[in-house]
Amino acid sequence: MARRMETVPSLAFALDLLGRLAAETEDTPGVTRASFGAGEATAHRLAAEAARAIGMEVRWDLVGTLHATLPGRDRSLPAVVIGSHLDSVPHGGNFDGAAGVVLGLAIAHALRRAGVTPQRDLLVLGIRAEEMCWFHAHYLGSRALFGLLPRDAADTLRRADTGQTLAQHMQDQFLDPTPIREGQALLDPARVACFLEPHIEQGPVLVETGLPLAVVTGIRGSLRYPRASVTGAYAHAGAVPRAGRRDAALAGVALISALDAHWAALEAAGADLVCTAGILATDPVHHAPTKVPGALRFSLDIRSQDAALLAEIDGWLRVTAARIGAERGVTFDFGPPTHTSPALMDAGLRAALRAAAAEADVPVRDMASGAGHDCATFAGLGIPSAMLFLRNRNGSHNPEEALDAPDIHAALKVLVPAVAGLLGARLPEAAHG
Ligand SMILES: [Zn+2]
Repeated sequence: MARRMETVPSLAFALDLLGRLAAETEDTPGVTRASFGAGEATAHRLAAEAARAIGMEVRWDLVGTLHATLPGRDRSLPAVVIGSHLDSVPHGGNFDGAAGVVLGLAIAHALRRAGVTPQRDLLVLGIRAEEMCWFHAHYLGSRALFGLLPRDAADTLRRADTGQTLAQHMQDQFLDPTPIREGQALLDPARVACFLEPHIEQGPVLVETGLPLAVVTGIRGSLRYPRASVTGAYAHAGAVPRAGRRDAALAGVALISALDAHWAALEAAGADLVCTAGILATDPVHHAPTKVPGALRFSLDIRSQDAALLAEIDGWLRVTAARIGAERGVTFDFGPPTHTSPALMDAGLRAALRAAAAEADVPVRDMASGAGHDCATFAGLGIPSAMLFLRNRNGSHNPEEALDAPDIHAALKVLVPAVAGLLGARLPEAAHG
């Protein structure tokens, strides 16, 4: 017979903590937990109180990461680490980030309640500053945790709403920017046996497929050109024949259409890829209904789990832009690119999550993560890492995020035995799961 632990009381613990988070960081509509701001600090306090109430050791490091530990028998062993971020976008939903921290604590709750002392530490992290809307840097909190930020980041990054530096905001929260300035790691990757990040799905896939959970295969990396442009020539819309035109808008649209066709072919061949031109704009100072557009500004956001494919598409863009430019008498300037590396999830951890799901009779699927997550920082350091997505209605980064209690329960039924296995914990038999 399968070893199972009762998870209903831990579901109640999770729902109670999520309710407190929603109530105490409310900013109608939704919640606001600004990175290194008041709402994030409140979320940290509530998570810490909940962790202390179940007997976990609680501390904050110098850059403000919450470390809540359920001590194991052999404290010299690297810990099993679960975590996510506790900040939100302005007027965001209650679950993006917080659900992962709450689930980590609920797993500790379940182990504690069953009287289990794990072989090694279970460490639950509340990570700072993941949402890029506040400071325009990806994975800010997890990179600070591992000493990976540029050393000038504390003094050059400014919060979008206040204009104040990261250092000023940290000091307002009684935190210390010195480790960032010195590139000091506050968690040694060698002390992390593995990292798990439960997170709500931010797209519609699980809702549309009727499944509560997904095991993430990888976090897509990105190639972005936020400030690309096309330069042609303005001309009279009636007087200039086709052959004499240097239409920047048509050339830009031709490139984006060609990219769309290339994407469709690659996807049909099984590639993991998403492409977006989120900005497409003629110049309002010069454009007019009666003018051939001489300039176009556009952006490209291209994401894949496959780093080689991103590099190949970068080359394809150059070649295709040069061809279209020659055909249409215009010049493409892509401007400076930004890159994030794809992060593949650990095969062993994925298998452990799938096995726990099968054992608990919870249906799951595999899927790629299109959004970036702190888990990519851990995976980038060579730490075996995995993510579990929870079904969520209405997308995310908005007040309508909806994660239902039965899906939180499904996640606990999978995560509690999976984490117990990773911890080397012996589970007691229980009558109900
Ligand atoms: Zn998130």
